[in-house]
Amino acid sequence: MSCATGSKELISHTAEFLLKNKPWLVLTGAGVSTESGIPDFRSPGSGLWQRYDPMEVLSTDTLFRDPETFYRVGFYILRQFKHARPNLSHYLLAEWEKRGLVHTLVTQNIDSLHTISGSQRVLEIHGHLRTAHCMRCEKTVPLDRVEKEVDGGEIPPKCQCGGVLRPDVVLFGDLLPSCFEEAMEFARRMPLLVIGSSLQVSPANFIPFAAHQVVIVNIGVTPFDARSDYVLNGKASEILRGLNEEMKKQQPTV
Ligand code: NAD
Repeated sequence: MSCATGSKELISHTAEFLLKNKPWLVLTGAGVSTESGIPDFRSPGSGLWQRYDPMEVLSTDTLFRDPETFYRVGFYILRQFKHARPNLSHYLLAEWEKRGLVHTLVTQNIDSLHTISGSQRVLEIHGHLRTAHCMRCEKTVPLDRVEKEVDGGEIPPKCQCGGVLRPDVVLFGDLLPSCFEEAMEFARRMPLLVIGSSLQVSPANFIPFAAHQVVIVNIGVTPFDARSDYVLNGKASEILRGLNEEMKKQQPTV
């Protein structure tokens, strides 16, 4: 079943479905943060994809072969994400966790906006921009230090041991951290609510295949729409606000 933002009837059915099957696993993608001013990779016109090829400038291959491009282009894009603030969707998801509706939140985003807005159980399967580590001795350092070195012209930035420092984000070509397996395990056990993801990036897009019930909130279409229980097309903040109001109406105590 699918709908445009304005379809109150479908918001109401989806709210009922979500309340009946709580708690849920939530999977978010870049689309949950576009309303915080961070462009996603694939939205027509505004996507980062149109200006650069992230699979190239944000890859381990470029980091190793051409650190200048990695730090001057790829890292420059990532740094902009650090100044964004959470939007209504991030705050509602944090509130839903406190109310026992959301069990765990899995995010493909590296902008930390879910933790900043108060979500506690967050699996950052693509890492984050809070720290970096040395590729030789594995020492962890604050990302601010890497930024200062890059701004001072030290490219690639180096650890005291001489090893190259890299941000703690998952680059194209990297393996995913072990929390991805945890996310897959949760998906097998509870319904999944996907918000703002094109579901085109692997292996994150395997997660819906593990879930028995799936609800999708997204502006654009996804390859999983036809297999989902409910698809709500529109801006995440508007749809989540509608679901929140409807759930409060249907179950004021939750
Ligand atoms: P994507 O760019 O492939 O897809 C984003 C989807 O969100 C699109 O289908 C678009 O239609 C939808 N969308 C955009 N704005 C929306 C809104 N306001 N409400 C609802 N839907 C909206 O993103 P992805 O699936 O997360 O995969 C891209 C990869 O890039 C991920 O690995 C992600 O980590 C990374 N990335 C992260 C950030 C970030 O940290 N904020 C930003 C850009 C890219």
